[in-house]
Amino acid sequence: MRIETTAVRAARGEPTDGWLRSDSGSNERGIPHVPGIDLSTTYGFHRSSSVAESMDALLEGAHDAPNPVYARLHNPTVARFEDALAQLEGADAAVAFASGMAATTALLISASGEAASRRPHVVAVRPVYGGTDHLLSTGMLGTQVSWVDADRVGDAIRPDTGLVFIETPANPTLELVDIEAVGRQARAGGARVGASIPVVVDSTFATPILQNPIALGADLVLHSATKFLGGHGDVMGGVIACSEEWAVRLRQVRMVTDGLLHPLGGYLLHRGLQTLPVRVREQHAHAIELAERLSSHEAVRSVHFPGYGEGDSELVARQMRGPGSVLSFRVKGGVSAAAAVVEGLRLITPAVSLGSVDTLIQAPALLTHRVVEADDRADAGVSDDLLRLSVGLENVEDLWADLEQALARAWASAA
Ligand SMILES: *Cc1c(COP(=O)(O)O)cnc(C)c1O
Repeated sequence: MRIETTAVRAARGEPTDGWLRSDSGSNERGIPHVPGIDLSTTYGFHRSSSVAESMDALLEGAHDAPNPVYARLHNPTVARFEDALAQLEGADAAVAFASGMAATTALLISASGEAASRRPHVVAVRPVYGGTDHLLSTGMLGTQVSWVDADRVGDAIRPDTGLVFIETPANPTLELVDIEAVGRQARAGGARVGASIPVVVDSTFATPILQNPIALGADLVLHSATKFLGGHGDVMGGVIACSEEWAVRLRQVRMVTDGLLHPLGGYLLHRGLQTLPVRVREQHAHAIELAERLSSHEAVRSVHFPGYGEGDSELVARQMRGPGSVLSFRVKGGVSAAAAVVEGLRLITPAVSLGSVDTLIQAPALLTHRVVEADDRADAGVSDDLLRLSVGLENVEDLWADLEQALARAWASAA
């Protein structure tokens, strides 16, 4: 199946051997066209011995069991979303959480926390999402971080390294990291210290439609499902696609630390996947157009977009199927001019978050990356006057008209 078909059809509980062949005769039951939402927190059982078997399987991190037992161990609605997302990423499995940060938390615990072989050290490349930066920099989960340039990942690996963390395209500068090259470095660094060091890619900006990190040698792919996967700004979630072996560890962490995705969220995210390919392609066509127009506007100092950075276009061609629909830009006149642009907009919504059907704008230094120390922000290229634009499905001419009038007014008042 091609990706559009998988997005629409995966994990809906439809017969896989054809509708007629799976006809069960005169007493057949209708198959719901849309799978139901299972809100049950607990499940009744007939025999304690068989429910105990199910419980054992789930405690060992199994994907499912005949009896889900308790909603912290398994939920069928959430599992459908996980199965569909795993298929889209070309992964064995996926494990969903209440948010992107809950997913990152569970990952850090499972990568670093195993009692016998504690590996609390994380090698990471800036910039990453502000919350992730804060979680790693403060070490509040007992991890220690080495922030390095992408070409120093191998050298930074130590005997106690448990994880390499990268984000590409990166939030909010849209910088790209070469996933294959980092994978090679992690393997070389791992060989040097005698361990296998997993690489996780936060692929939130690319979605499974534009980038599949596992095919490029990464071990785990993380998404803030709150963004493009949900796509409508009405559900929070996070998900990690990975091998079944990693999924077992993540489920075992999730069942005791919680961070569970609510079944209603699982339902909405599964539904969101159905239109994901169409939304991503249309939104990125709009973003390509706006990035070009912004680059030639007199009030704009620079535009950051995959393919615009030095040596970027070769990497975009090699590891992505398009640049995505988030861009950032700096206007001439600094922070006050940037604020004037945001305040002058009439259609585009000033708000944090991204990946929704409507266009959103914000200044990362002021909001999403506020938790990162000012010096670290500056090092990572997140200047105070940088604006991040998440381009939606509105007509691109309406979006441009709005940007143009706001830029013109800000430019006039700065001049
Ligand atoms: C938003 C975001 C996160 C955090 O996800 P939440 O769902 O807000 O917890 C992580 N990574 C990236 C790239 C993000 O944009």
